[in-house]
Amino acid sequence: MSFTYVIFDCDKCDFHGNSTITWGDFRYVNESKETNVYCDLGWCFECNKLVPIEDFSDSDRVIDLIELTTKELEAKANNKFSIAFSKRDDKVYLIKEILEYSQRLKFIRERIGSEKCLMCGSMEIKPFDGDYSFEPKEYMKRPFNSTKNTGFIHPGCGGGIIAKYNPVRINLESLSRYYSIDGKPLDSETD
Ligand SMILES: [Zn+2]
Ligand SMILES: [Zn+2]
Repeated sequence: MSFTYVIFDCDKCDFHGNSTITWGDFRYVNESKETNVYCDLGWCFECNKLVPIEDFSDSDRVIDLIELTTKELEAKANNKFSIAFSKRDDKVYLIKEILEYSQRLKFIRERIGSEKCLMCGSMEIKPFDGDYSFEPKEYMKRPFNSTKNTGFIHPGCGGGIIAKYNPVRINLESLSRYYSIDGKPLDSETD
């Protein structure tokens, strides 16, 4: 799989960054069990650059998933005709999914407000609250020159961060990074 990405420049200083820093496989490890880290782009005042940060903004989406999956499970349980045919495994699978979503919700509730930089573990971070999405109709016209003002202000500098669409596809490295459940980096495969 290869992907296009976005390059960030400051309009006031020579700061550079890019969106590929949030790529890769970020995992929490707890008692030899691994779960996904949801990460987002942010600014770390310790690293002094754009970094991947923990993201706990998915609770609404998780609640929707619990409702949907519960309905699916109820439908399977109530449909007398299907009972004979539906495999028990299907229901077990749905129950496991609901359990996983509930664990995510519990985790969000415990950790929200203590989001960390996924590079150094610092809590001195700020989510990237600018817009760096490019619609196909925006970049199809001028693929090598599509830029936009993200609205994000370069911390400590005051310049505006400009996003530039990069149409050259690059491969997603299968780099795994591991974290404790409080978001502190453990030894990574590569550094
Ligand atoms: Zn700057
Ligand atoms: Zn950091």
